[in-house]
Amino acid sequence: MGNSELLIKPSQVIKDITLPLELVKQLEEIVGKDKLLLGKPDRYAYARDRLPYGLYRIRVGALPGTLPSAIFLPASSEDLIKITQFCLANKIALIPYGAGSGVLGGTIPLNGEIIVDLKKMNQIIDLNETNCTVTVQAGMNGMQFEEALNIRGFTAGHYPQSISMSTVGGWAACRGAGQASSRFGKIEDMVLGLKAILPNGEGLEVRPVARRSVGPSIKDILVGSEGVLGFITELTLRIWKRSAHSEGCVLAFPSLQSGFDALREIMQSELRPEVIRLYDAEESRQRTQNMTEFIEKPILCIMKFSGLKDLQEVEKKLSLDIAQKYGANTARLEPYQHWEKTRYQSYSTQWQTDNYYMDTIEVTSDWSNVIEMYQSISKEVKAIYPETYFGAHWSHIYSEGLCQYMTIRLPPMENEQAHQLHLQLWDKIESICLRFGGSLAHHHGVGLLRGRWLKEELNQGMQILEALKKSLDPDNLFNPGKLGLPPAEGALVLAFNNK
Ligand SMILES: Cc1cc2nc3c(=O)[nH]c(=O)nc-3n(C[C@H](O)[C@H](O)[C@H](O)COP(=O)(O)OP(=O)(O)OC[C@H]3O[C@@H](n4cnc5c(N)ncnc54)[C@H](O)[C@@H]3O)c2cc1C
Repeated sequence: MGNSELLIKPSQVIKDITLPLELVKQLEEIVGKDKLLLGKPDRYAYARDRLPYGLYRIRVGALPGTLPSAIFLPASSEDLIKITQFCLANKIALIPYGAGSGVLGGTIPLNGEIIVDLKKMNQIIDLNETNCTVTVQAGMNGMQFEEALNIRGFTAGHYPQSISMSTVGGWAACRGAGQASSRFGKIEDMVLGLKAILPNGEGLEVRPVARRSVGPSIKDILVGSEGVLGFITELTLRIWKRSAHSEGCVLAFPSLQSGFDALREIMQSELRPEVIRLYDAEESRQRTQNMTEFIEKPILCIMKFSGLKDLQEVEKKLSLDIAQKYGANTARLEPYQHWEKTRYQSYSTQWQTDNYYMDTIEVTSDWSNVIEMYQSISKEVKAIYPETYFGAHWSHIYSEGLCQYMTIRLPPMENEQAHQLHLQLWDKIESICLRFGGSLAHHHGVGLLRGRWLKEELNQGMQILEALKKSLDPDNLFNPGKLGLPPAEGALVLAFNNK
């Protein structure tokens, strides 16, 4: 079947699957009326996350999926057990929900699922200053969490651009990355232990310890599970003493390759700048207009150093020595200051409002392939539609490789044509990435949109994931149709569900 046949037409009516009155009454009795939202305005508000395809649909008066049948706002794990048991008994599907900032459609209902919004479970339970750990409920807002740690002199070291609009549980469920990942790692490097409610309604606890050697990591079954294997209710994270000192710097590199060479050597020399961001020519140009430093050396790189003052100074000196060896000059601080000021803002809103079709795609590459992968993708994107905007940067840098974060943007056009092109662009970019041996997702997760490529990445691992799902959730009630797993019977099939 061609893609166009699978697309829902804008004229299609919005699918509203409601719960039978009898079940609503039962639910109200079991969990309490005050924790349920059943009105249409609320159900519309929860019918989408930040999946760009969903926004394109809303522009034409449609939805990406269906309306949820209800929204439940639990205040405790006991509430979660109650809703799980109710759903099990009545074979109703549900979707764990953090703040709906996911960009892959992970919380989009496809069959009137009940959305379970964990935001009321938002307390810090314990901050252990001796162990440098914090235990926090999964629904806590990211920025409020970080600010609470800062007051006590600590930081989580996890600063996603979406920090103000996401939850700690959502970070773990998607295996997210913050802007200081080159120094502190991704969320999976920070989670020491967790509590969860499994799809059979039973609790799971993985006690937080520094390291263990007791078989495969059980916590990592939940980290990255995107709501398909239960609710993450509590997390214990590694935290850090907040640094009193930090310093930014701006570099101009003669070429992308020289930038990659320098960054690789910096990371492989065990230097750990808090932030490293390298931009391609297109993204560099936007950030360095009227800066003469970039006329001959057009590639922008910004870095931030932090930590103990003496160490930070040495780290900066050694990093800049390496950059200089590859031809970089230091430049004025404006691009760094601009990044600091806008680091938690969403860029896409204005473009979406102006009817452009914008999306971002983040993949992982190793060092051996990154330049060729980048060149191949930028060429193929233009071949699909020459007027596509394409820009990339690299801001999660490791000894073994790095994340390539790409922005694609189609100009205003007929909606159906844009859907086709949008899907073609995703297909091309993900398949090139896989061809070069990378991972098709670095930190946004799989959700709904990326499921179609998952088998290609996981190979036999997909069977393990499917077996896990079947054994933990035999009725397929937790977030069906996400993470490349089968949808519920009768659920909507979207263009990108199948390959
Ligand atoms: C402007 C913008 C910038 C962004 N920048 C970043 C970034 O820098 N780094 C980054 O990693 N991501 C980023 N994202 C993506 C998004 O913010 C992250 O994926 C985030 O971790 C999602 O958290 P959330 O609480 O909003 O989860 P939601 O969107 O509510 O849910 C995402 C998925 O996790 C599941 N889930 C949520 N909470 C739980 C739970 N407690 N238990 C089980 N499953 C759960 C849901 O079912 C769903 O599948 C950005 C998004 C936007 C819109």
